[in-house]
Amino acid sequence: MKTISFLENLFSVRAFSTEKEDTSDDWRDVALRNAALQSMLNVPVDRFFYARETHSGSVYAVTQERPDGWMARSEEHLHLGPEGGYDALVTSVPGVLLCIWTADCLPLFLFDPAHHIAAIAHCGWRGISENIVANTIDVMKRLGTEPEQIVTAFGPCICENCYEVSEDLRFRYAEKFSPGEMEALFVPKQNGKFLLNLKKAVELELLRSGVRRASMADTGICSYESAHYASYRRGGHSDPFRQTLSGIMLC
Ligand SMILES: [Zn+2]
Repeated sequence: MKTISFLENLFSVRAFSTEKEDTSDDWRDVALRNAALQSMLNVPVDRFFYARETHSGSVYAVTQERPDGWMARSEEHLHLGPEGGYDALVTSVPGVLLCIWTADCLPLFLFDPAHHIAAIAHCGWRGISENIVANTIDVMKRLGTEPEQIVTAFGPCICENCYEVSEDLRFRYAEKFSPGEMEALFVPKQNGKFLLNLKKAVELELLRSGVRRASMADTGICSYESAHYASYRRGGHSDPFRQTLSGIMLC
């Protein structure tokens, strides 16, 4: 398990990404997977919240605790993507584990230590173009966050040397990013394709939302190059529950 030490060492928050070695074929069975995760993380299963990932720009907030101890889930849909999907989770409630699965997309950890608000966002090229980063910060702001207080970390994802994309995608991004930004995001290849810098795209979105550059950290792990992490580009989607699980929880 990869601890996101930039967050865990400085603040009262837990943040991690699982490694291939943490998972097993048993994880196809939801009960076995839950039991393994509960014992690995020492968090009760009913405190796990998973994003319903559809590469959307939608955000789901877990904001209240009912007297009977069960979590009330209040949905804050912004710029709704595909029906019912949401690719980021936000909470102000301690002890709630917010989780996303990835295999090359960027798991973005966000934490506001001043207001004790945590979030996690599944950032692929499509989610970024659907404003998942800005929408997540908007929901954090509704709970009281000021963007300049947010610290963020980039989990394992495909790096700028490995992520080949088509020109279509570049055209889509040109509607969102300035010509100067586009130069930093896309490097042309000899085969007519481009290398996309996903981390740079997230960084630009964070800066635009008011997060300070000095408050961003990067695990520096490329999911495509490291055998410890799931990579769609390297291994396909044959076994979704052996993808990388990233989570954040307020302590
Ligand atoms: Zn790489």
